[in-house]
Amino acid sequence: MRRAYNRHLSKDLVGKQVQLRGWLYRTRSSGGIVFAVVRDSTGIMQVTVKKGSVPDEDFDSAVKAGIESSVEIDGELAEDKRAPGGFEVRAKRFQVAGLSEPFPITEYQSTELLLDLRHLWIRSREQTAVSKVKAAILMGARKWFEENDYIEVTPPIITAVAPEDSTTLFQIKYFDRIAYLSQSAQFYLESLIFSLDKVYSLTPSFRAEKSRTPRHLAEYWHLEMEAAWMDNEENMRVQEELVAAMLDKAVEKCPDELKLLKRDPATLKRIRPPFDRMKYEEAMDYLQKRGLDVSWGSDLGAIEERELTKDRDMPVFVVNYPKELKPFYMKENPEDPRTYKNSDLLAPEGFGEIIGGSERETDNARMIAWLEDKGESLDNYKWYLDLRRYGSVPHSGFGLGIERIVTWICKLDHIRDATPYPRTVARVYP
Ligand code: ATP
Ligand code: MG
Repeated sequence: MRRAYNRHLSKDLVGKQVQLRGWLYRTRSSGGIVFAVVRDSTGIMQVTVKKGSVPDEDFDSAVKAGIESSVEIDGELAEDKRAPGGFEVRAKRFQVAGLSEPFPITEYQSTELLLDLRHLWIRSREQTAVSKVKAAILMGARKWFEENDYIEVTPPIITAVAPEDSTTLFQIKYFDRIAYLSQSAQFYLESLIFSLDKVYSLTPSFRAEKSRTPRHLAEYWHLEMEAAWMDNEENMRVQEELVAAMLDKAVEKCPDELKLLKRDPATLKRIRPPFDRMKYEEAMDYLQKRGLDVSWGSDLGAIEERELTKDRDMPVFVVNYPKELKPFYMKENPEDPRTYKNSDLLAPEGFGEIIGGSERETDNARMIAWLEDKGESLDNYKWYLDLRRYGSVPHSGFGLGIERIVTWICKLDHIRDATPYPRTVARVYP
């Protein structure tokens, strides 16, 4: 007898012998019959265990086994309109592999308890669906990069310089020195384009985000790319194609998971390049007209990004931010030197930023002036500045937060549910 996964049990197997392995999702007994619902990695299936149809000791274990006990069942597949999914397995054998103690998670639980019991809560159907959607979008991204001749590279995680805001650096003891956990692989990716042309990496990034927001983690998975001979226009085209390819894979692989998460796959299928481009300046006008107290130089936070995207069903690029809002490595916009040639990609439906990208500055004098002005030690950046000294090339790149895009696609209320073990100010356990 072949082991079957719940999802594969369909009409053509009706009347056939099947073997199920899984965990008890629900169970109740009444008289001489046990109704068990068995969960495996693909879904749930109803199993009926009738006294007399299985050996007596099997029936006794079926009565005794509580939810989350792991079980192995042989039986015959039958159609049954009352069962979830329309089928059930009528057991001939019912074996318990591991009996579960009374499971500590019952129907209504506080968020805190579910975070304390994360190692058990990740068995939930929602969390299982999120994990699969995440795997699908990563698959879609890797496939897109491969088809477009990008090389996957492995930058370091332990670093000495800060590409982003130095106030969010995690410091570590590194032998007898101090080092930092990477916030972004960007500088290292930039160094690799001189030999590999177009590169990408998928790594954890670390940010000591002190404010508790529903869209910041202290550790997240960062998909970053960098390409030589690329301006910010082409950089945005890469982003819109890549995002569409990631969504396509989620829709192809996970239609049922998306529905379980209350995301209609059709809304994702409609998302096609090109996405709108809106200048930062236009964004300010738009927000002012809607009564928000913003002006040139205001940063776009969650509130502003929600306002900009709540009536959209496609992502939108906000381009050319004022320099004071963005890091020094971005390229000055010759058409408006107050701004950079950069873009943030905002997901629709009120969600907000999922990607930050820019063309990179190639003028060392400009970067040095900025670093000196900020009192940074040039020694730390010497290697980075070298990249502009030996065959400098126009180039661009971006970083996409994997948990951000998952939170959006899966319609989650909080980014912590986009990862099995969220790391936040308040939590490193389990
Ligand atoms: P935000 O303004 O939302 O803090 P950022 O400008 O700091 O974002 P970047 O430095 O451009 O973000 O990082 C690239 C991408 O990484 C962001 O677009 C976002 O998707 C993701 N990201 C940034 N910080 C976090 C975080 N703390 N947790 C999860 N994802 C993040
Ligand atoms: Mg940030």
